[in-house]
Amino acid sequence: MRMDGTIAELAGKHENFYLYDEKSIIERTGILKENFPSVDFLYSVKCNSDHNVVRSVFSQGLGADAASFGEVILSERCGLSKDRIYYSAPGKTDREIEGAVGRCVLIADSLSEIERIRRIWPGAEIGVRINPDFTFRGEGGVPSKFGIDEKELMSVLPGIEKDVHIAGIHVHIKSQELNSDALLRYYRSMFALAGRIEKGLGHGLDFINMGSGIGIPYAPGDSELDLAGLGKAVEGMIEEYNHPGTKVIIETGRFAVGKCGTYVTHVVDRKVSCGKTFVILKNTMNGFVRPSLARLVAKYSPERYPASTEPLFTGVDAFGFVAEGEGQEKVTLMGDLCTAADVIAEDVIMPKLSTGDTVMITNAGAYAAVLTPMQFSSQGPVPQLFLTSDGRILE
Ligand SMILES: *Cc1c(COP(=O)(O)O)cnc(C)c1O
Repeated sequence: MRMDGTIAELAGKHENFYLYDEKSIIERTGILKENFPSVDFLYSVKCNSDHNVVRSVFSQGLGADAASFGEVILSERCGLSKDRIYYSAPGKTDREIEGAVGRCVLIADSLSEIERIRRIWPGAEIGVRINPDFTFRGEGGVPSKFGIDEKELMSVLPGIEKDVHIAGIHVHIKSQELNSDALLRYYRSMFALAGRIEKGLGHGLDFINMGSGIGIPYAPGDSELDLAGLGKAVEGMIEEYNHPGTKVIIETGRFAVGKCGTYVTHVVDRKVSCGKTFVILKNTMNGFVRPSLARLVAKYSPERYPASTEPLFTGVDAFGFVAEGEGQEKVTLMGDLCTAADVIAEDVIMPKLSTGDTVMITNAGAYAAVLTPMQFSSQGPVPQLFLTSDGRILE
């Protein structure tokens, strides 16, 4: 990515900011719709809940994967009808369930939650989140805080349907998968699971929500998934499944918006200490936390992709640092916080940087502003700006 006129102009007005590009959102969601024409996509609001971003994604026809009651309300305010909002999260309180009544498709996360829904919302048509008897890599379930173990659910069907109707299933067991074969094996397992559940229930399902999994390249060595091939295979599975009344759903956060965002900041100082050159940037750990988390994880974990670190950590080289200028030098990029953990890149080659220069960080569209501890050190929140496809800047 290069620094274009829009970024340079905005960098003249703001010390630091996020810029989200609507063209990128339209392009990325378009790729999904084109390759998976029979699939209904939901946007995982938790990855970026900026209202301009959410409205833009919804305007492309995606529904909402709401991870909290707050996201149900946000999705409603951004124009979605209740049948397009799916609320799935572990540990919902009674108050959250009461609030959700008549507002969304509620996905129960445990058997005790089904009991509570039955009491609070009798007659509800719900989904159930399942912890299946398979993983992305093969057979056999693993312990999880998410969903109801498949075996346990099967053992209570169909009696569990008293006063609630199970209209669909939801599974999400992995994010950021870049191996097509693993995704295909998972999708195949999902259709087989749906068949077992329908048999146990004695009726068909209105929806099969297969969660996310579709990854995006972050590091220079990552490659883009073959979505044309993947889409074709999924279309084949849907045809073979042959339940025209059943909606097949895939959720996505990062694929839709991960590439649409750039974090822009400035050099505020530089110094050489004991022979090492430090370039100090405005608000890094407390502006866009993931690059400094990546350094932290890399320092303490010998694995390249340690398990269960998503979405806090994706990979060591997941972000690009872009600046323009003459020459080259090896520097360590640090933020301006009073902690030594505020390191975003160590011993990287950059053009010669001086105070006032602009630095952009890539891949800042998903799990970026939403995860960042912006209250830390009382530095103030970072503006989140939105570039519309016709060239306007919204705040
Ligand atoms: C976070 C989340 C997603 C989104 O994952 P991405 O890797 O951003 O696509 C989808 N489904 C569920 C249930 C999630 O919790």
